[in-house]
Amino acid sequence: MTKHTCSCAGHSVAAPGTPLKLHTTRRPALKLPKLITVAKRDEPIYRQLIDAAKKASEDAYQPYSQFNVGAAVLTFDGQIHSGFNVENCGYSQTIHAEEAAVTNALTSGLLKRAASHGLSQFEAILAVAVYAPKGSDPWPCCNCRQFLGEFGYDMHIIGEQPADGKILCLTLGQLVPFPFPIKEVLESVRGPR
Ligand SMILES: [Zn+2]
Repeated sequence: MTKHTCSCAGHSVAAPGTPLKLHTTRRPALKLPKLITVAKRDEPIYRQLIDAAKKASEDAYQPYSQFNVGAAVLTFDGQIHSGFNVENCGYSQTIHAEEAAVTNALTSGLLKRAASHGLSQFEAILAVAVYAPKGSDPWPCCNCRQFLGEFGYDMHIIGEQPADGKILCLTLGQLVPFPFPIKEVLESVRGPR
């Protein structure tokens, strides 16, 4: 292979236009996260949450993708707030259902209510249900995983398995095993709390 020396770093790289071949594997053995079994006593409220996400998906504004998504948030005090995707002709301005549902929950005064119970922003949301009639599972896109992570990684992400209606459940932390360190970033601006 023809080599040339990169002037900025002084190390050899493949010549321009030559595919660089790495020798380190990019197919590591990954373990899929194990689904969480929802306790029988939690099932009614989780079914209610999924139903709220389903209902919200009906109102999605999706002229570009024709892809409805609904989401519903279960707060620490048992409230349910829902939202749906709101698309935009600029595409990147599109609001995802999870963002809308969390924003609605926050608008209800969620964080103040949580604080009055001595709970932090990381404990205010117990679960988020996601539903897309054309989708196969409820796992949020990576944008939404980061967005939800602002409110902690212990929340459940739930949805219904289309084949048999079984409740699928994982924590957000299982979906984002190496999250951006929100607590450290907050501390760096607010100081330790
Ligand atoms: Zn999303």
